Amino acid sequence: MKILAVNAGSSSLKFQMYEMPQEKVLISGVFERIGIDNSFYTIKLNGEKITHEVELSNHSVAVGFLTKELLENNIVDSLDEIKGVGHRTVQGADKISDSVIVNEYVEDIIQKYKTLAPLHNPASLVGIKAFKEYMPNAVHVAVFDTAFHQTMPEEAFMYAVPYEWYTEHAVRKYGMHGTSHKYVSRRINEILGRNDTKVIVCHLGNGGSLSAVVNGKCIDTSMGLTPNAGIVMGSRCGDIDASIIPYIMEVTGMSISEVDKALNKESGLLGISGVSSDSRDVEKGANDGNKRCILAQNIYVRRVVEYIAKYYVLMGGVDAICFTAGIGENSISTREKIIERLSVLGIKLDKEANNVRGEEKLITSKDSSIPCYVIPTNEELMIARDTYNLVDEK
Ligand code: AMP
Repeated sequence: MKILAVNAGSSSLKFQMYEMPQEKVLISGVFERIGIDNSFYTIKLNGEKITHEVELSNHSVAVGFLTKELLENNIVDSLDEIKGVGHRTVQGADKISDSVIVNEYVEDIIQKYKTLAPLHNPASLVGIKAFKEYMPNAVHVAVFDTAFHQTMPEEAFMYAVPYEWYTEHAVRKYGMHGTSHKYVSRRINEILGRNDTKVIVCHLGNGGSLSAVVNGKCIDTSMGLTPNAGIVMGSRCGDIDASIIPYIMEVTGMSISEVDKALNKESGLLGISGVSSDSRDVEKGANDGNKRCILAQNIYVRRVVEYIAKYYVLMGGVDAICFTAGIGENSISTREKIIERLSVLGIKLDKEANNVRGEEKLITSKDSSIPCYVIPTNEELMIARDTYNLVDEK
């Protein structure tokens, strides 16, 4: 069965076509600069990558090119062969706790909570509309980034703010990257060979979050109402004292939107280092002796370790710690620094095994109290699996 996994951003559209249940990728690609000048798309097929410069005035035009590629490359003979399209969607608030078939209610939820994900939710709706136009007979499924975290208990998701902020304005922790946390926590259970596990997933990318997962269910995560909570990120500050905001507005005269921009786009690794939001540049700066890059790395590592320590205590122990996403999968030195700081728990790095990028691997030694793994995430596959399951049930 042909299943398409789609991730629509405000000016981009990524896709992967799977043959299910074999989980074989048939074709993948990305459309970029949709609605702006110099737009183009790249298709990956049979190990080859081809870029086409074309005008992409909107998402519907992009889906038109996508369907043309599918037909011309004989991936399908007719678009009706595509039985399901899974759409990555960010914010479903507390209304959606699993992947769901898109209907009017689901579209209303995506629309209703767009204030909580102003860049992502409107883009998802545009993507859903464009694909429905070309593939009206397929089952369209929304896979929400927040859904996996819906199992958090109240004491984990509530903030200590006036209760009416929750009841009247939906202010609570929702968490993000749920599809990645779900994929990695499932995969580690497969590796461990059991489901009664306590695991910590460290999704360390440009955006980053940790989750504590007990028996396959999330009990806490580091992102909050928005993605700007928890660990230090590329350009997001993560956890800060909330009163910094009124203080800095008062002493600088900055507006709320200027402060919001500074906390989302000019903070994190970029803000501390003054060099870059990209951890590779910060790593290079630190290796060259740049003190602010060293400080940025130290704060980054410390925050991750703080969350691991917190989740260790909350879960009453840990069976495995997993590293995933750009930094988690590729930054040997970041993993080393994190694991070194966990030695108090009896965790022991295997330096040779840790010399790995983007590959599933156990990176701690045999006598480590807790095994740590690199597990490359695969959100597209998770989307395809959930979509396939819902098409199959239909
Ligand atoms: P993501 O958001 O998952 O694509 O991750 C992006 C982050 O991964 C950026 O900060 C990159 O610098 C980082 N990253 C990617 N490759 C490497 C690498 N080889 N070493 C260190 N960091 C990397």
